[in-house]
Amino acid sequence: MVMKRCDSGHYFDSDKHSACPSCGVAHLSVQATVAAVRSGYAPTRLDKHGN
Ligand SMILES: [Zn+2]
Repeated sequence: MVMKRCDSGHYFDSDKHSACPSCGVAHLSVQATVAAVRSGYAPTRLDKHGN
């Protein structure tokens, strides 16, 4: 097991990950969160407003 450090300062196991998983997960979760908020925000707001 070899611990590497990415440009952002995260440590990860380079035997299991070719690139920093923290940076990759953070990037993906930002996209998913934005998509979920955007798709869920308007219907919720319309539902409350419409009632
Ligand atoms: Zn990182």
